[in-house]
Amino acid sequence: MTTEHLEKHWGEVARRFGQEVVAPRSRDLDGQVDPEDSFSWDIVEEASRRGLRTLTMSEDWGGGGAGCLVTAKVVEEIARFDLGVSVVMAQTWKLIQTLEAATTEDQRQRYLPIVRDDSRCLLAIGFTEPEVASDYIAPYERASYRTRAERVEGGWKLTGKKHFVSNANRATLYIVFAQTDPSKSLLDGSTAFLVRRGTSGFTSGHVHNKLGERLANNAELVFDDCFVADSDVLGEVNGGFGVQSRFFPASNAYAAASILGVGQAAYEKALLWAQTRVQGGGPLLSHDSVAIDLAQMRMELEAARTYVHRAARGADGTMAWVPTHGSLPKVFASQVVWRVVTQALELHGGRGYMKDENNGMEKLVRDAAAFLHSDGANRTLLLKAAKVIRAEVAEP
Ligand SMILES: Cc1cc2nc3c(=O)[nH]c(=O)nc-3n(C[C@H](O)[C@H](O)[C@H](O)COP(=O)(O)OP(=O)(O)OC[C@H]3O[C@@H](n4cnc5c(N)ncnc54)[C@H](O)[C@@H]3O)c2cc1C
Repeated sequence: MTTEHLEKHWGEVARRFGQEVVAPRSRDLDGQVDPEDSFSWDIVEEASRRGLRTLTMSEDWGGGGAGCLVTAKVVEEIARFDLGVSVVMAQTWKLIQTLEAATTEDQRQRYLPIVRDDSRCLLAIGFTEPEVASDYIAPYERASYRTRAERVEGGWKLTGKKHFVSNANRATLYIVFAQTDPSKSLLDGSTAFLVRRGTSGFTSGHVHNKLGERLANNAELVFDDCFVADSDVLGEVNGGFGVQSRFFPASNAYAAASILGVGQAAYEKALLWAQTRVQGGGPLLSHDSVAIDLAQMRMELEAARTYVHRAARGADGTMAWVPTHGSLPKVFASQVVWRVVTQALELHGGRGYMKDENNGMEKLVRDAAAFLHSDGANRTLLLKAAKVIRAEVAEP
């Protein structure tokens, strides 16, 4: 299928999935007290039935064949209905792309059929540790992962802990980063490993109780003398940072697209409200200051979307790749959406703040906060971009 056909087809599938499957369940699941009860396997299985779960797997492997631009658009469409569901899917979609691009033929043969055929197969990636977090993103040159992989016969023994990991307690397959050379930093002494749920010495730990994005679960990954065979090293030994840099160009764009969906939902809600709420002798929209607020929200969302799609095209290779597009689009989109959502809250008056008004505004505010830090704290991503700028200036 051409990109245009893929975009039309998957855009329609995503819209119907959002309307028919996600929207009816989102508010109830979001309101569950125990974070594990906010996750729904029914939603994942329905995504599988509609072909969405394997959206980014190539058609040769039996997947949906979507590239980064189409995927970014689908992510935003689903996030309009619920941010958490878009994250559950987007994590899986970006890691399927990594699995196809960064693995050996043997690894593809062993893992891609599992991902394709198990209707509950989700993927997760573990970088973040309690003590090593922004340091792997910026990166801080002397930082090294506390999760260690020690050489043993035939492979490696992993010991340590990751936390905050999306899909951690739900995934079947994980990409995990560990320090293989403790004498070096994580830049040249860390390695990426493929680890399957159920591997001895590997468990998921505490499930985090989050402010928003509740339909996605985040949890710890715990490794206690967990054996991983040489055949499950992803990329080169001590080449983990290269895997992270080379194979995740679209990750930032998908994160940005997720949060844009929240902003778009808030804008649409505010516009509807401004047409129906009457104060000052007419609907709010009849007052110029309110109409200007809505124009500002729309402008900022459109600018952010254009930026995100540009980055996705770069990741697809249909436009030149710009190094700062691996960090800045999510920063911009999440800043825009934070402004848009708080403005939408303002226009709703006290009704936006009241859970019992049931208008979904307070959920959007909680959800909007998720991507100020998810996929890298904004300040850290700006620092990463600043390093690119300094390197450009230093070049002869
Ligand atoms: C919803 C959600 C989902 C996530 N999913 C995943 C996942 O799937 N996998 C995974 O591995 N991780 C995941 N994370 C973790 C996420 O990547 C980290 O939260 C993020 O990298 C920041 O780390 P931290 O929260 O420990 O903050 P810290 O690193 O402690 O930073 C705290 C503050 O200090 C600032 N700061 C840090 N270093 C510097 C510096 N050198 N100079 C100036 N300021 C600095 C930061 O910008 C931030 O404002 C997720 C997080 C969230 C919230």
